[in-house]
Amino acid sequence: MTGHYDKVTIMDIDFIHTTMERFLNDTIYPTLANEDKCFIVTANPEIVIETRDYSEFKKIVQDSDYVLADGVGVINAARFMGRPLPERVSGIDVMYEMLEHAAEKGYSVFFLGAAEDSNRKAVENAQEKFPGLVVAGRHDGYFDPADEEISRMVLDTNPDIVLVALGMQRQEKWIHDNIAKFDKGVFMGVGGSFDVLSGKAQRAPQGWIQCQLEWLYRLIQEPKRIKRVLRVAEFMLLHIPIIGQIMKVFGFSKKKPRN
Ligand code: UDP
Repeated sequence: MTGHYDKVTIMDIDFIHTTMERFLNDTIYPTLANEDKCFIVTANPEIVIETRDYSEFKKIVQDSDYVLADGVGVINAARFMGRPLPERVSGIDVMYEMLEHAAEKGYSVFFLGAAEDSNRKAVENAQEKFPGLVVAGRHDGYFDPADEEISRMVLDTNPDIVLVALGMQRQEKWIHDNIAKFDKGVFMGVGGSFDVLSGKAQRAPQGWIQCQLEWLYRLIQEPKRIKRVLRVAEFMLLHIPIIGQIMKVFGFSKKKPRN
């Protein structure tokens, strides 16, 4: 592992105490330059709550190399706990920075995930936005995760960066199950980022992000996310000191693990 960080633990997940700039300079760029390997999880409150409910997923996140605080909910929770994190480090921003750096330095990128049209358009847009970008390969995200052909195909392209957009849990599990086959590479789950890169989905405008309302913007775009928003609300309530204590006393914070 490259770069040493203090950790802030929230619900058994160790978030690294870093700014995005430091993480890029101290970890991602040296890992690429040295042809090392790392597994990055960008965790928002939904992911943290999911780790509480799925023990196998929790283990995967805990076994990753770096967990980044991707979500204002995580930043607020850390602040309430009296262990503030310096800033939100969002997966999509790290992805854009990596793509820019890759285009400058000639590192190759594999794009794995999202629907076929979104994946194709995301790659086209990335090449347009970052001229010179070397695309190692691409594949949509609708395959059997146990299919060895897919990991072999990615491996054969010898990529420096592997962006995996299969949705939370699926993408982290795919990386966890396959990273040992690779000699090098920065592996990161990027959720719905290919849909944003392709133009299929819109990222919230800056004003909404600054007002901490990105979740509402996404909810308006995708009303079916309401269940997730409720989970984020649960996460937030658990981390407001008095309310969190009351919820713990009444057992709201302990769901039975489902596996
Ligand atoms: N996705 C995929 N394969 C699947 C399920 C989802 O490639 O089997 C893609 C989906 O098309 C989308 C991305 O994963 O581009 C993120 O999906 P979602 O918004 O559900 O992700 P989350 O918010 O859970 O990270």
